[in-house]
Amino acid sequence: MKYLDEFSDPDLARKLLDQIHAATDKRWSIMEVCGGQTHSIIRHGIDQLLPDEIEMIHGPGCPVCVTPLEIIDKALEIAARPNVIFCSFGDMLRVPGSSKDLFRVKSEGGDVRVVYSPLDALNIARDNPDRQVVFFGIGFETTAPANAMTVYQAKRLGVQNFSLLVSHVLVPPAVAAIMESPDCRVQAFLAAGHVCCVMGTAEYPPLTEKYRVPIVVTGFEPLDILEGIRRTVIQLESGRHELENAYPRAVRAEGNEPAKAMLADVFEVTDRAWRGIGTIPRSGWRLAPKYREFDAEYRFAVEDLHTAESAICRSGEVLQGHIKPHECAAFGKECTPRNPLGATMVSSEGACAAYYLYRRLEVTHA
Ligand code: SF4
Repeated sequence: MKYLDEFSDPDLARKLLDQIHAATDKRWSIMEVCGGQTHSIIRHGIDQLLPDEIEMIHGPGCPVCVTPLEIIDKALEIAARPNVIFCSFGDMLRVPGSSKDLFRVKSEGGDVRVVYSPLDALNIARDNPDRQVVFFGIGFETTAPANAMTVYQAKRLGVQNFSLLVSHVLVPPAVAAIMESPDCRVQAFLAAGHVCCVMGTAEYPPLTEKYRVPIVVTGFEPLDILEGIRRTVIQLESGRHELENAYPRAVRAEGNEPAKAMLADVFEVTDRAWRGIGTIPRSGWRLAPKYREFDAEYRFAVEDLHTAESAICRSGEVLQGHIKPHECAAFGKECTPRNPLGATMVSSEGACAAYYLYRRLEVTHA
């Protein structure tokens, strides 16, 4: 099928792999930032086909995984209120908070609904004027434009009973934070193609220059990822550190201008906590002051929650690439997708879930 099969063609994959093997001389550690890329790499076994000298480090690019515990606990608190309809994408319902998840709140009588778009939540608000409707707006630069548009529409239409619980995070500050970490082993990045579809590529050359790392904008199909790795290795071996766009069928340097204009209108940059990593300065968005009335944290005044992470979960180390998922003692034992202890086991984009789905027999019998 066009656009699907053609980017997983085995003959082309073999040629790219041959070129990667031929180009590789030294040892290199490359981080794929995006959880979708992690899933694709593990699913297709791409990391196992690479030269032994190349290690793929799985980055903090799964939006569900990095949503901080405090925001999850706030979601649980708001969703449990009697007059609230709490709307979310389905993958957030099983993310563990300090003591329960949104499924548990639903089973206890909370009106928690899975929607496929934030605009669905806005329609629910318009159909239920006597209830408060909250949409859980999480994710990277990719999901933010639709959430921004929904808040813009709510204001334009005068929908007073709609609000957004916001936890948006940004990729470039996370790249900088990883490079600033004293334990950093990353020597190059595959940047997330869909993020760059929205934001363009202008934020990356200052990072390649400051940290002297190659950054290659990469897609999600097997050939996309192999091409991203091939270009990265060629840069590393030749001592270059530049931005390259290996996903030109989707990414333009300027990004999506209307989406960026909407984001600039509705959101403002703020410090954000990343689950398992900590607070990264200026690494997220919150609603701009003129949209404050649509901010669920402000509307429901949920402050000062006491949060408690699982004592045995090592997802913070997984998210920073310090360990692989199976090096966590709970992997596949106390922690499985049916009973996740950490967010990286919940989302299909989480590294722990990807290893569980595609590698658990291999890694647990190694
Ligand atoms: S396997 Fe489970 S407990 Fe271990 S790091 Fe991953 S999510 Fe946390």
